[in-house]
Amino acid sequence: MGLTGIQIFKMLPKTNCKECGVPTCLAFAMNLAAGKAELASCPYVSEEAKATLSEASAPAIRPLAVGAGENVVKIGGETVLFRHEKTFVNKPGFAILVSDTMPEAEVNARLKRFKDLRYERVGLTLRPELVAVKNESGDSGKFEALIKKVKAETDAGLILMSDKVDAMTAGVKACADRLPLIYAANNGNSEAFANLAKEHKCPLAVKADNLETLSSMSNKLTAAGLKDLVLDSGARALRKAFEDQVFIRRAALIQKNRSLGFPTITFPCEMTKDPMKEALIAATMVAKYAGIIVLSDFQGESLFPLLVERLNIYTDPQRPMMMQQGIYPLGNPAEDSPVLITTNFSLTYFIVSGEIESSRVPSWLLVMDTEGLSVLTAWAAGKFVGDAIGAFVKKSGITDKVKHRKVVIPGAVAAISGDLEEELGSGWEVKIGPREAAHIPAYLKMGA
Ligand code: SF4
Repeated sequence: MGLTGIQIFKMLPKTNCKECGVPTCLAFAMNLAAGKAELASCPYVSEEAKATLSEASAPAIRPLAVGAGENVVKIGGETVLFRHEKTFVNKPGFAILVSDTMPEAEVNARLKRFKDLRYERVGLTLRPELVAVKNESGDSGKFEALIKKVKAETDAGLILMSDKVDAMTAGVKACADRLPLIYAANNGNSEAFANLAKEHKCPLAVKADNLETLSSMSNKLTAAGLKDLVLDSGARALRKAFEDQVFIRRAALIQKNRSLGFPTITFPCEMTKDPMKEALIAATMVAKYAGIIVLSDFQGESLFPLLVERLNIYTDPQRPMMMQQGIYPLGNPAEDSPVLITTNFSLTYFIVSGEIESSRVPSWLLVMDTEGLSVLTAWAAGKFVGDAIGAFVKKSGITDKVKHRKVVIPGAVAAISGDLEEELGSGWEVKIGPREAAHIPAYLKMGA
């Protein structure tokens, strides 16, 4: 953000109408300057001020999209160097490489792995998003055919890799509706690739041998009207790639260097032939600070840890992942099924619900809003205590679903059972469940 709160305030309507959610225009201006508010929240900003403020408040690293439709991959838009300052915004896309010189069986096997390697975790689907199609044959027809095959068989965002203008022209035409990433403009082809990107509104990757050339090429392309660029510094050794990633991020954020203010693409697939080393390099690039990571292949044992690492790093550390408060029926429960209660921290919910499901005892799970805190933390914070749980159980509607009046609390908070029974009133029985979720199946099978 290039403007101070006071400079922004001068451009606001100063009516203090509160429609933006804060009491005054000054407070809104301060939030905007700190990156804690969106300009769109004020409906009364003049068009002139909007133009100035939008430009000034644009993230130092341009956000852009590869692909279209549901599986669009958003990259860039980052505003901080370190995750503890503020959340990282757009997680890097993982790409698998296929080439038009590969045997068809190998291409089919890779595309199958791209489609099959998906994992459910804490209510989310973790999956790779991109396929990088490489024109190694030099033949436009083969390149185009492979692109058409990948497009027909997957929902992937596409990265088209060729430095030949005729092959890239044919390739982009074959999948223009998917808005592929054109990889890559270099000193020899940049004008033709820039025209292609402009014509089809596709993002364009820029490749150079060093940061200086990269910066100057990016400047030229920006001057030619290109907005959505992805940077490749050309580094193909871990140390240099790591240094370049950090340099680019720092230059964009701290020095406000617009020519390096774009997301990056990295190629662990070209840095080693050892699959485990490749996964380790990719893990480094997830943390520092790649926008796209191209892998030679996907294997579950290396892809899954990378997906989990990415999830962890790109989850907002200031906002716990939460479930909605409510009643969750598990395994088609009936009016005599047990009722258990837990907090709305996602991980707690998925562990507890997973154990209940594996018990095969149909049950009702009451999930109480504790602002995303786990059981013991919520108890210690006074959010998962007898009177609060009692009030929640009474208004939850569970009494319309079961004829009994028994509720099972986590064993870790056994101490609240007396308070809870008192809050719920006569007729209710509070049962103490296991301390560990792993013991829930045995507990339920004994007849909770
Ligand atoms: S909505 Fe706009 S005019 Fe109203 S208080 Fe907020 S900043 Fe001021």
